[in-house]
Amino acid sequence: MTHPNAPETAEDAAKDAGRTGFSPRSLAAQAMGGVDPVTRAVVAPLHVSTTFLRDPDNGYSSGFSYARPDNATVREAEAVLAMLEGAQAGAMLFGSGMAAATAIFGALEPGDHVVAPRVMYWALRRWLREELPRRSIGVDFADSTDLEALTAAIRPGRTRLVWIETPGNPLWTVTDIAAAAEAAHAAGAVLAVDSTAASPVHTRPLALGADLVMHSATKILNGHSDVVAGVVAGARDDALWRRIAAIRAGGGAILGPFEAYLLMRSLRTLHLRAAAQSAGALALAERLSGHGHVAEVLYPGLPSHPGHAIARRQMEGGFGGMLSIRVTGGEAGAVAAAARVRLWKRATSLGGVESLIEHRASIEGEGSPCPPDLLRLSTGIESVDDLFSDLDAALRGAHG
Ligand SMILES: *Cc1c(COP(=O)(O)O)cnc(C)c1O
Repeated sequence: MTHPNAPETAEDAAKDAGRTGFSPRSLAAQAMGGVDPVTRAVVAPLHVSTTFLRDPDNGYSSGFSYARPDNATVREAEAVLAMLEGAQAGAMLFGSGMAAATAIFGALEPGDHVVAPRVMYWALRRWLREELPRRSIGVDFADSTDLEALTAAIRPGRTRLVWIETPGNPLWTVTDIAAAAEAAHAAGAVLAVDSTAASPVHTRPLALGADLVMHSATKILNGHSDVVAGVVAGARDDALWRRIAAIRAGGGAILGPFEAYLLMRSLRTLHLRAAAQSAGALALAERLSGHGHVAEVLYPGLPSHPGHAIARRQMEGGFGGMLSIRVTGGEAGAVAAAARVRLWKRATSLGGVESLIEHRASIEGEGSPCPPDLLRLSTGIESVDDLFSDLDAALRGAHG
């Protein structure tokens, strides 16, 4: 690809990444290190044009013709994400995490079968239940943390896709990615992983055998609660990958360039944010474990968590910024505590630099495994002491 304003430099830098041997952290900090060849700017220009001039011979030598199928700024953010995930096929950005996930399921054929986990993002579970039957695609939900149960749900020859989410929202259950990939592959299926909670800093599903990895980039990838976006990264440029690309281009689900620009800006600090949020979540999980108003702390970084051993194997540098607590006063106690916080923000979503608290059962629909006394905590980058004392006061009823 030759283009005067450098979208190719990020791509070339992505190709160079393997050769230079620099770490993902270094490459992300520089958004792949591309430099605009016209101005020598170290931050690439934002490409907002929806259309591109034809050449005198009627061709499109830049490789760009119209902004729905492709955009240069989007491509640059995709190059960073592909590098972070070690994705040979590359990464594709979508207008939301749901658009990314549903593009994967959209690539299936009538008669196909899907296995999904019991513990997963609620809106996607609802979409699978409502939309897959309309497309004559079967879906079964299995306990993905139990390899036997997962394997039993897979129908060799019919199951085309096994979907897992780890850590799984909102209980932070841990699924063994390598084992799930083996089980899926043995039956002729592919494994797709919703890795939103882990982020590529802590887990690289493709290196563990997964075929596709999806993120809600709205969450820690962007991390500033100001962009809605989603991404799919692929291990191989195969028929399934090209079908997902065709669905994005044809369905018009591409991310806008402004959002891609903001996302790329955020990715430069991803490693710093993820490390701080993970360390904060672990400290909170430990301090809340002995709390008189907390019945249980759900965090994969705690040795008491049932998924801890697998998490230690497949997660690096921390266990993520997400934890949940079960409050001793039941549902009423949980809702009351969430209403009393002063520093934590009582809002949905996760992964941002500001800490969020949410009574999760209020939002999860049918089929949710979320207990009514559960509060979901998304750890930001504030002082952990402040976060703990605010939560402690809210739990004890000390705040107004
Ligand atoms: C938020 C979220 C999604 C959906 O992403 P959107 O960007 O909100 O569409 C999917 N999976 C997980 C784990 C999420 O947290």
